[in-house]
Amino acid sequence: MAEPETNDATPFLPDRHSLKALREAAADCRGCHLWRPATQTVFGDGRRASRVMLVGEQPGDREDRAGRPFVGPAGRELDRGLEAAGIDRAETYVTNVVKHFKFEERGRRRIHQTPKRFEIDACRPWLDAELEVVKPEALVLLGATAAKALLGSSFRVTKHRGELLDCELAPLVAATIHPSAILRAPDDEARQGEREAFATDLRVVARALCPV
Ligand code: SF4
Repeated sequence: MAEPETNDATPFLPDRHSLKALREAAADCRGCHLWRPATQTVFGDGRRASRVMLVGEQPGDREDRAGRPFVGPAGRELDRGLEAAGIDRAETYVTNVVKHFKFEERGRRRIHQTPKRFEIDACRPWLDAELEVVKPEALVLLGATAAKALLGSSFRVTKHRGELLDCELAPLVAATIHPSAILRAPDDEARQGEREAFATDLRVVARALCPV
């Protein structure tokens, strides 16, 4: 089916780039088709002075209803990892490369669907504006979708997780898994291993930032 939208959020950006102005404008974004079935735009959350920006893929079911990123089970894993790494959550700004929840309805359940490249590209102006305003000292990309969106489609999180990467987006850039991957671990032992590895990746950033 042809997309009536322009697949570009640029026309919806406000003239003034403050987080408040951006968040308010993003609430009315129609830059791609994803706004239609979703409840609301889920813009980034955190203070402008945050030293660390964490970027995930897209809001999940819980986030779509709450209107805030990383408030569901994956968000709790993120909080846990940050605490284990010694990064103050209050020093972080959390957001996603795509600001609307993309899902497929199966009965009463809404199942996450990975956003396509054109949807990520359409939403990119919001993330660029967030980066411009927050200017984080460290940028942490959570999961393959976010990492590929910002570092190129050939980037492999499995190969380069926990490394400090040479990238102009921020003084410190690193990639790790999305915390939802911890939840998908097959058993408690695997889950604990994923948790520890996630915290280890975040510790690399914490040490480089020190003192946080
Ligand atoms: S996903 Fe992004 S570009 Fe698409 S409508 Fe939502 S905010 Fe706009």
